[in-house]
Amino acid sequence: MKAVVLSIGSELTRGRTVDTNAAWLSHELARWGVEVRWHVTVPDAQDAICEAIRTACLQAELVVMTGGLGPTLDDLTRQALAATMGVPLECSAPHVERIRAFFAQRGRSMPETNTIQACFPVGSEPIDNPCGTAPGIRAVCGAATVFVLPGVPREMREMFAASVAPYVADRTGGAILLDTTLHCFGAGESDIAERIADLMARDRDPQVGTSAKQGVIHVRVYAGGATADEAQRAVEETAVEVRRRLGRLVYGCDEETLPSVVGRLLEARGKTMATAESCTGGLVAKLLTDVPGSSAYFLQGLITYANEAKTALLDVPVEMIRAHGAVSAPVAEAMAVGCQRASGADCALSVTGIAGPGGGSADKPVGLVCIGLADGSRVEVTEHRFGTYLDREDIRHRAALTALNLLRLRLLESP
Ligand code: ATP
Repeated sequence: MKAVVLSIGSELTRGRTVDTNAAWLSHELARWGVEVRWHVTVPDAQDAICEAIRTACLQAELVVMTGGLGPTLDDLTRQALAATMGVPLECSAPHVERIRAFFAQRGRSMPETNTIQACFPVGSEPIDNPCGTAPGIRAVCGAATVFVLPGVPREMREMFAASVAPYVADRTGGAILLDTTLHCFGAGESDIAERIADLMARDRDPQVGTSAKQGVIHVRVYAGGATADEAQRAVEETAVEVRRRLGRLVYGCDEETLPSVVGRLLEARGKTMATAESCTGGLVAKLLTDVPGSSAYFLQGLITYANEAKTALLDVPVEMIRAHGAVSAPVAEAMAVGCQRASGADCALSVTGIAGPGGGSADKPVGLVCIGLADGSRVEVTEHRFGTYLDREDIRHRAALTALNLLRLRLLESP
């Protein structure tokens, strides 16, 4: 089954709202084995909507539209659909009453303008909206079936599950496409792609693809099946092979994040940790404490930005900073050791670097970051050059993730 996803709204075409509905719908439709051929976005203009519906109905058997079902003058989706179908709008008395009841439940009377939301193209079917005023519409337009859903994402998702998903499942016989995403850190996208090149062959099923974002490489595995179990088995088989090839580069899958994985490892080993940060300004601590339950292992985070703070709070010797500079391996090491001592934690991470845009030199360019990890038995320091082409935010983010990954790898070594 082929589909077109049609998003209506001038806010979307003006770039004021990001079209998350199209992304969500495409992912869901793919899950149900539907091939989305196009995403089309048009403003709240009746002629543009009519043209988009007409074209979409020629291209696909299924058209899923969102937006423009509101009660205001610029909500023109239902009028455009009726015009394209060549039928008038007809008001449904039971739906007017439902909308009136929706307002009454909230202690308000229904503005007369909302009556339009109970009007549907003749021959179409209304779809109930359990969490808003605007019912959706299901209609046949040419050879295509058109579903019109509200623009509000929450309402759209509920209505999709109640109306579009069962419609699609009926016609595709329950065939389903599932996916899983493995997250990797510590190697570039091309390096990772090389190790799994044969699994990424275009004609292979399950399909495997990679994408990169802020130093994290995502390996996505898609598999179709006649049933969810069959698809799940196929996804898992390939995911196991990807993990085998990439080893410890893979830190987690799907909802897992680097901080949540580090947290899980700390908790499983009954260890606590602390941070001493300079150029990341507390970002490592922030990422760790974003994870619910992090108080079980995260003791404290120090932001020792000034040299004096590094000395006063972490006992980094003044002479060491003078001799090597604040961004140096010896200082990162001393920060980690000082942080572990001051906090009493089982392990401590330190970060010192040049996030830019100023402050770099030929010897110590923007993007140079030193990371320390002390765990009582061993102190480890790594030096990174994240490159002058990254901006301040990216360098700080990359540095924070690299620090967390260093700790992850150390924790994996310990029983
Ligand atoms: P309502 O009856 O609540 O007005 P509607 O169907 O008319 O719903 P719109 O008025 O087009 O929907 O959009 C309502 C809100 O939903 C927008 O302000 C926007 O925040 C969000 N929205 C609409 N379309 C999208 C989209 N494609 N992606 C993400 N958000 C969207």
